[in-house]
Amino acid sequence: MKRVPMPKATFRFYEELNDFLLKHIRKVDFEVEFKGQRSIKDMVEALGVPHTEIDLILANGKSVDFSYILQDGDRISVYPVFESLNIANITRLREVPLRKTRFIADVNLDDIVKYMRLLGFDVYCESTLSDKEIIEISKGENRIILTKSKKLLKFREVSHGIFIRPGTTAEQVKRIIDHLNIKDQVRPFSRCLRCNSLIEPVSKNEIMDRIPPRTKTFCDEYSQCKSCDKVYWDGTHFINMKKVINHILGNLA
Ligand SMILES: [Zn+2]
Repeated sequence: MKRVPMPKATFRFYEELNDFLLKHIRKVDFEVEFKGQRSIKDMVEALGVPHTEIDLILANGKSVDFSYILQDGDRISVYPVFESLNIANITRLREVPLRKTRFIADVNLDDIVKYMRLLGFDVYCESTLSDKEIIEISKGENRIILTKSKKLLKFREVSHGIFIRPGTTAEQVKRIIDHLNIKDQVRPFSRCLRCNSLIEPVSKNEIMDRIPPRTKTFCDEYSQCKSCDKVYWDGTHFINMKKVINHILGNLA
C-alpha cells in the first residue's frame, strides 16, 4: 500500500520570536507535518513560542486568529509586536489594554517589581501565588502577567503576558515599557515600593518622630504610603533610584 503523505505547512517566525525556537529553525522557512485538525495556537506553542508573545499571524498572506485550523500547503508567518511595519488593513490578534496598564508579577521577579513600582506602575506581587492564582487575578483585574516561565504563558486562559528575557533589571524593565509603548505612563516616585499603593506628600511635622535626626537637618519634603505607612524622603537612596530611572528612560526611544 502506498503511504499517504501527511499534510504539511511552511512556517516562518520573525524577529525576537526566534529566541523561542530550536536553533536550526530560527529565521528560516521550515516545514512541519501535522495530523488531523490542528489549531495554529497549538502548533506555534508546540514549536515553543508562547501565544502571548505573538501579535500577528498570516496564513497565505491573510491575517488569521489563534483558532485558525491548519490546511495542507499553508504558508504561515508569525510576528511579534510591531514597531514600525505598516499594519493597516491587518487584524491584530488583540487590543493592548493601554487605557490603564496594570501588571501581576510571577514569583522571583522582586527587582523588576521594585523598578516598575519606582516608575509608578501598578504591579501586584505575592510570593506565595500559584500559576493558577496568577492567571485568575490577571483575568479578574485585567493585569498583564510578567514572568520568566514559558509554561505559565502557554495556558489557554492567559491573554496578556510578557516573557521576561535574560538581562539586567534595567534592560528588562526597558523592554517591558518599549514592548507596550507605555513610556508616557511613567510616574516616578508615585507608588510605594513595598505594597504597591499610591504615596502622598506628608508634612514634616506629622512624621517628625519617624525621621532619622540627620535627615531632619537637610530634608523638608516627605511622602507617605497611606496603606502600609512607609515614609519616603529625598536621601542617598533616592538619588540612586533617580539614576536608575534616568538610565531606563534615557535609553527608551
Ligand atoms: Zn505601602
